[in-house]
Amino acid sequence: MWQVIGQDKILSLLDYSLKTNSVAHAYLLVGPRHVGKGTLALNLAQALNCDGPELPCGQCRSCQRILEGKHADVTPIGLDSRTEIGIDDIRGLQHLANLPPYEGKCKVFIIDDAEFLSTEAANSLLKILEEPPPRVVWLLLAAEEERLLPTITSRCQWLELKPVPSEQVQEILIKSYNVEADKAKLLARLCHGRLGWALLALANEDVLEQRSQRIAKLVSLANAGLEQRFAYAQELANQFTQNRRAGAEIIEIWLDWWRDLMLIKSGCQEAIINVDYETALKEQARGLTLSEIEGFLANLCLLQEEISQNVNPRLAWERLMLNLPRRENPKH
Ligand SMILES: [Zn+2]
Repeated sequence: MWQVIGQDKILSLLDYSLKTNSVAHAYLLVGPRHVGKGTLALNLAQALNCDGPELPCGQCRSCQRILEGKHADVTPIGLDSRTEIGIDDIRGLQHLANLPPYEGKCKVFIIDDAEFLSTEAANSLLKILEEPPPRVVWLLLAAEEERLLPTITSRCQWLELKPVPSEQVQEILIKSYNVEADKAKLLARLCHGRLGWALLALANEDVLEQRSQRIAKLVSLANAGLEQRFAYAQELANQFTQNRRAGAEIIEIWLDWWRDLMLIKSGCQEAIINVDYETALKEQARGLTLSEIEGFLANLCLLQEEISQNVNPRLAWERLMLNLPRRENPKH
């Protein structure tokens, strides 16, 4: 049984391809981080090697070994803590791809973070995709597929994973993971339709703790002077240089917070993301006008765009800090 939630269209396409023996030699799985690309890739690797009646059965020896990461014909690679996937990784996979399957029916190579292939590595992969060896399937996973070479993406069948509605995530958390209702509601909203993120936050308390720290900082800046704001801009710029993903997560937190302020100001508080901070949000919203909130949200969207286009993060954050509305005495 497929373990991926809320991607029915993709699953029926894959079921059909498996039944009719028309599986592509390369797929590109796109979608935000934690949406389920990794789970789908493993499931597809299982389905291609499964000995059970229903593909993937999840029970046979082959399915089990793939799940445990022990199957000799399923090879995942990813960025891990590096900044790019290099040519040596791809050469290694190419060598394996030219050998026949060892214990299964089909070799499966899973390249996570495929948008971070170096130019050399991408060109090398392109050559392999142009002349695909038999009984080999390539699964490329990418959250920012626009960074991939168009010559690579055009050789893959696209599978776009969509975020799952938050009500559905909430239900899964309660029914399948025994999460209590309030926590399930919070995680379902914070995860933006990515069940994998909710499960990560469930398994690791640090995720929510880190979010609280980031929110505390964000709130404290509302009434801070320029010196403090610029120090924050510098801190974030440094963080971004060291860890691009952490930087992007902080921007998401800011966006969620300010969207929530707009929802509260517009009388739609039932739709807010940060349900556990409703009081603090209401208090801050009282001191702001709707046009101030809209103006700052536009600035945040601009920051997100600038960062993705490699504008100097320090300059981008400093500009944002200059535009952060300041209220010494909230209006009532
Ligand atoms: Zn199986």
